[in-house]
Amino acid sequence: IGERSSIDDGDPVVPLPQSNDRRWSDTSAYARKKVLQFWVQLPNGNWELGKVLSTSGEESVIKLPEGKVLKVISETLVPANPDILDGVDDLMQLSYLNEPAVLYNLEYRYNQDMIYTKAGPVLVAVNPFKEVPLYGSRNIEAYKNRSNGSPHVYAIADTAIREMIRDEVNQSIIISGESGAGKTETAKIAMQYLAALGGGSGIEYEILKTNPILEAFGNAKTLRNDNSSRFGKLIEIHFSETGKISGAKIQTLVQCAEGERSYHIFYQLCAGASPTLREKLNLRSAKEYKYLIQSNCYSINGVDDAELFNAVKEALDIVHVSKEDQESVFAMLAAVLWLGNVSFNIIDNENHVEPEPDESLSTVAKLMGCNINELKLALSKRNMRVGNDTIVQKLTLSQAIDARDALAKSIYACLFDWLVKQINKSLAVGKRRTGRSISILDIYGFESFNKNSFEQFCINYANERLQQHFNRHLFKLEQEEYIQDGIDWTRVDFEDNQNCLGLFEKKPLGLLSLLDEESTFPNGTDLTLANKLKQHLNANSCFRGDRGKAFTVAHYAGEVTYETTGFLEKNRDLLHSDSIQLLSSCSSHLPQAFASSMLIHSEKPIVGPLYKAGGADSQRLSVATKFKGQLFQLMQRLGNTTPHFIRCIKPNNVQSPGLYEQGLVLQQLRCCGVLEVVRISRSGFPTRMSHQKFAQRYGFLLLESIAAKDPLSVSVAILHQFNILPEMYQVGYTKLFFRTGQIGVLEDTRNRT
Ligand code: ATP
Ligand code: MG
Repeated sequence: IGERSSIDDGDPVVPLPQSNDRRWSDTSAYARKKVLQFWVQLPNGNWELGKVLSTSGEESVIKLPEGKVLKVISETLVPANPDILDGVDDLMQLSYLNEPAVLYNLEYRYNQDMIYTKAGPVLVAVNPFKEVPLYGSRNIEAYKNRSNGSPHVYAIADTAIREMIRDEVNQSIIISGESGAGKTETAKIAMQYLAALGGGSGIEYEILKTNPILEAFGNAKTLRNDNSSRFGKLIEIHFSETGKISGAKIQTLVQCAEGERSYHIFYQLCAGASPTLREKLNLRSAKEYKYLIQSNCYSINGVDDAELFNAVKEALDIVHVSKEDQESVFAMLAAVLWLGNVSFNIIDNENHVEPEPDESLSTVAKLMGCNINELKLALSKRNMRVGNDTIVQKLTLSQAIDARDALAKSIYACLFDWLVKQINKSLAVGKRRTGRSISILDIYGFESFNKNSFEQFCINYANERLQQHFNRHLFKLEQEEYIQDGIDWTRVDFEDNQNCLGLFEKKPLGLLSLLDEESTFPNGTDLTLANKLKQHLNANSCFRGDRGKAFTVAHYAGEVTYETTGFLEKNRDLLHSDSIQLLSSCSSHLPQAFASSMLIHSEKPIVGPLYKAGGADSQRLSVATKFKGQLFQLMQRLGNTTPHFIRCIKPNNVQSPGLYEQGLVLQQLRCCGVLEVVRISRSGFPTRMSHQKFAQRYGFLLLESIAAKDPLSVSVAILHQFNILPEMYQVGYTKLFFRTGQIGVLEDTRNRT
């Protein structure tokens, strides 16, 4: 059977239906036949298959597979698909499309390492948490020459390349899912395919090498994922007119959340630096740095940090970061680590402090190339401008710790941005001629926990935007085309999230604007913020003010209650202008570059409110505004592309193979609207052809000549001759629309003739 993949050769063969087989559409007589099996929901929430033994009144007696007998309300029974449909590779083919059927189908495939399944136009990928034999050059070859038609990331990447060339339109592969669902791995798999097909110039090798660098500097171990990306990423891969990769560009999206362990690169540096480098940086083992011991987790199972450090250095060589620059990068990392060890002494009875003049302080000064006294001042005093005067304010212990940590975080954030910039320089398409591009987006999915804070607020806002893109593309465009062509189309309702987006983005009365406004008030607190939101936003149906400092947003994926605790703090950029001044005074070139990148120069357009952190020269953006700006840039890049969607699903919370938790999977399927997509795609008319093309293509199959020769009359005559049922097609003003698989019989006849 054509649709089976080569990977499951040898498995007991379950005859799978072909997608053009009419029996599998809901409208067929086959589906209307009496159902033999039903899904029964057990008290634990899981679904099981059962057979009806008897029915009386509203109740039915059901027999479960192990022989257990259960009495249930008949209405709660959900029809199950015939066995022959077990494990279909597109959910569109299910006769009965319901949640248990979808869950079962994915699980059936998952158990046989078929982790990919189509949901109409969307690819669903269930994380195997183990190596599966689906990748590598032999598999790439099979998708390239189309000898393997089963769902795969390779197939998506292949379609993207073909459509890029055929339609001369840029493409995008949009990957989403929860933390640990497999987005970053999936993005790499897609990149491998593109590199294999578009390779040749050697630049593809550089592009692949950006992954270990970005993962070392941007990923950290968390409770949910040993290799969790702490940033969102869009990589735009450019192709020349001959279809060869000519360059790439990376754009990142900041995320403020922290992991349980710090970024991998710190541990790698401590474990892998050469003796010479150790001496230069005055480097110790990870256990001696306060920033690294907070988590009490120094190593990750199966990970050799020293070996990875060498791999990162090699990758940096490949993307043309010079040895000198690499050493500067490592010096900045060591400076951050030593900063964390700087301690403070209280010097008066008002809790004011001065940094302890120890090895930590002197090493930081040496690594950054700054004067130790200036470093001391930046960590213990703050210059405030009042009118035309500058007054010096001494910092208390907690203020000094905040100033120190803010400096460390800023240096790291700038270092990451700087690296991305260097990589982009190396991969730049430059003057080389570029044809088209394929962008791959790897961005964290919707999050909802018991306690949700500023991090979830930003993430969920981004996902709300992406969801709109998804909706627009799959639903709106679809329906608009039907309506434009005047066909009879009963609107399928779908969730439009414009209202929720408006709640975030409206000016001046939206969540983001109000948050920024409150952040600029020196006396603003989490409570005044919560009250302000309630006062202005209660009229929006997506918003609900809760007790105390909480508020709830009705997201597309469900309601999320946010605690405003820490919102203002996290949104304000706490870095003092004194610290920026300090960086610009350093003799090393990286801190200097960081200082200038932190200031918004007046010639640049300024979006959102400004934070006066001192002089007029140090105006800076709030975290939320910066996030929104980057998100808009991302969306703009995606705007002109044909999107391909991949939804990653995490089958369990313990990162373990072979464990499929129905409840967890279902919740994710609901979050990303997979069922809705299938429903819409299936109820619609996905195949379409202009009257002209249809008449041209199949006209010669007509057995009797007809009087009128116009394309529409010819088309209708063909439809009649082939007995295509009226509910299977629609005739529009310019096009004919068909349900899935209807063209099959015509194509077959045509090919045989
Ligand atoms: P986060 O949002 O936290 O960055 P993520 O969705 O990017 O999470 P990944 O880091 O891609 O998740 O995947 C988590 C882990 O799952 C990987 O480290 C790997 O062990 C496993 N994994 C994911 N996809 C695959 C795959 N196709 N084959 C084998 N293992 C996989
Ligand atoms: Mg990731």
